Order: sequence, then C-alpha cells, then structure tokens
Amino acid sequence: MQSFIHVPKDHPFPIQNLPYGVFTHHNEAERHVGVAIGDWILDLTQCENLGLLPKFGEGHLFQEGWLNPLMGQPPFVWSALRKHTMKLLSINEPILRDNVVLRDQVLVPQQAVNLHLGVRIGDYTDFYASIHHASNVGKIFRDKDHPLFLNWKHMPIGYHGRTSSIRESGTPLYRPKGQSQNPVTGAIEFGPCVQLDFELELGVYIGFGNELGEAISVNEAAHYIFGFTLLNDWSARDIQRFEYQPLGPFLGKNFATFVSPWVVPMEALEPFIAFFPKQAGLAGYLDQELLPKWDVSLEVYLQPKNEPDPILISQTNTKELYWTFDQMIAHHTINGCNLRPGDLLASGTISGESSGSYGSMLELSWGGKFPIPVGAEVRTWLQDGDRLTLRAFAQGDVFRIGFGDVVGTILPPK
Ligand code: MN
Repeated sequence: MQSFIHVPKDHPFPIQNLPYGVFTHHNEAERHVGVAIGDWILDLTQCENLGLLPKFGEGHLFQEGWLNPLMGQPPFVWSALRKHTMKLLSINEPILRDNVVLRDQVLVPQQAVNLHLGVRIGDYTDFYASIHHASNVGKIFRDKDHPLFLNWKHMPIGYHGRTSSIRESGTPLYRPKGQSQNPVTGAIEFGPCVQLDFELELGVYIGFGNELGEAISVNEAAHYIFGFTLLNDWSARDIQRFEYQPLGPFLGKNFATFVSPWVVPMEALEPFIAFFPKQAGLAGYLDQELLPKWDVSLEVYLQPKNEPDPILISQTNTKELYWTFDQMIAHHTINGCNLRPGDLLASGTISGESSGSYGSMLELSWGGKFPIPVGAEVRTWLQDGDRLTLRAFAQGDVFRIGFGDVVGTILPPK
C-alpha cells in the first residue's frame, strides 16, 4: 500500500504505521489528535469536524485533544478507524489526493506544530521483564553465580510507578537531588544525584480495560493493548540504592519518565511478531502456548555537549524480553486488579546478552566500574549537557515502523 504523500524508504512513518499523537499549532492552545504520515500529520480532529470520518458510537472521538476517548472504544473501532485513515491517505483514493483545498485543511507539516503527551495516563506500572537486565543487576549488586531472585522466573516482577512526571520527549530534565550513602566514607549525604542513568524500555497503553475483580486471560491480553510507545525511565542510581529497601524505588525514579510523542497502533506491529518457545513450569494463568515477541530494533545515542554528533552506545531488540506483554497483563490482573483505558505498562530496561546491547549506564559501565568511550569523552553516568536519544523501529523489506525518538538533555540541578 502506498500514499499520495511521498514517504522515503526507511522513513519511520509510512502509511503502514500511522501512529497517533496530539499536537498544537505554534502559538495556539487548541489540542488536535492526528496520525503521522511521512513528514506530515493528518489532523483527525479536523477530519472529524469536516465529516471525513465515519461516526463511531455516540459522541466525537477527537474533540477533546486526547487519545483516551479513542482508546476506550472496543478494538473493532480502532481497526475500522485505521482502515478508514489508510484509505484517506491512499494513492488510489481521490478525496484528499485531488482536492488541494481540503488537503490544506487536514494535512499539517510536522515542523509547524508542537507535539504533546497524547494520553491522560491513569496508572503506570513498570516491569522488570528482561532476563539479561535482571541478571546484570543481580551480578553487579548481589551474587555473580545466582543473580536472579527465586521469584523472577515464576512471574513478571513489577512495581507501581508515578504518572504525574511522565512527559513527552524533549521536556527539560533537571538533575534531581536526594539522599545517598557515600560509597567511600559511608556518610549519608544530600545533594545533586551523581549516578544519573537512563533505562531503555518499551511501553504499552491499555485500551479497553477490565472490571475490578475480573482477570484478563493471557490468551486474550493482546486485545487490551491499544498501542506501543518508546520509554525512558530516568533513574538516579545513588538515590535509588539508599532508599529502595524495604519498599522499592521511590525518589530515584519518580522525578521523570519520558515517552515518545507517537503511539504505534498494535496492528502496525502485527507483521513483526515472532513466536518463541514458552517458559517451562509456569502457573497456568501465565502459560502461553507460544510466546509472541515483537521484533523491534532499539538504539541508544549519547551526545555530550561538545560532541558534534550523537554517538551510538547501545543496540538491542525487544525480542530479548523474557516475559511477553500478554503475561505482564495476565499477571497484573490475576488478583482482580482493574486496568483502565490510558494505563501504561512498561517492560523494564531491555538489555541483550552482550555488553554493546545493555539498556542502561548501570550495565554499560558495570556499576560505574568501567567507563565507556563516548566520542572524545568517557562516561560512567550521565553528565550535565548530555543529550540522550532512544530510537526504536521494526524493519520490514519495504517499509519501517518507527516509534518517534525519545530525547532528553540533562540540565544542572535547580
Ligand atoms: Mn524501569
């Protein structure tokens, strides 16, 4: 399938992708919902106003300027809307292709807008689903020979995160302050975080939710996923290490989490599912015949202030996750916990097996012991002025499904 809008090969946003996002025109407050196509956005709020979309259910879906009204619809509505949007943009469909006036009303160049967090996120859960990441952390902090806790292979481990500090790519990030224990003197100190880190993660937004008391079965779980986002779970390791016992991460995590502004629909990634053999010996509610994993390439770039270009410091793939998102959803709800439209579930740091594929500075510098070269400089942890970019894409033969970069520049503490 092709669009009348020219999209170069390997552009992140071909007509097969059509990720959802929310934008405002420069100097305007009104939020619009749209889908990205090449360097353009098809303005769905405007399409709805102009009667270019079929009516789904009762009210309007795009007048609020958030994705939640769409996310709360049943999956057949997502599907129907996606088909219709593809048709509007198709090279074979004259409605927009041959009508310059209409086209000018609904197609907006991406550079003419500001992108925003598009989802009113309800609850945010962060898992710990990469076996390489969990093993590395265990090896660095605990036991080289037995890095995983007993529970790790029995269930996807997770914790409840904080929603208020989840922001879109490009938001200023001030180095957080907090308490930590000086590793040399043992003294408890307060000050700017020294061990600032990133975590490379993939997240799913829940669409249609479940009722309190009802579990979602692992084989049905995929129907509850509206779409995917790339996510950076910024982490203050020194603060985290001192505070995390006994109740888990708190201020070491909740100062900021960045997501890509685009939400990649579940359907856009369907061609990139690969099936893997299941884990052995699981409780029935986690038992999937084959494990569906998405073949999504992940890259991390770091650009110190004085470097002219971003430098690739890590490369991995979401196939490296041990637990599937289906299993995370089944586990999250097995006790009757209800998920709601707009909830965000993140994978946890995604690391591969080899040292060039780790998804955090903690692992890349092995607990800060071995600084890595970054251009003319070296890094153990992130420094002020560093610009970090996460990138994700599923690569097909003729097109690529991109996620939109997650970018953050470290600013000195306030
Ligand atoms: Mn995390």
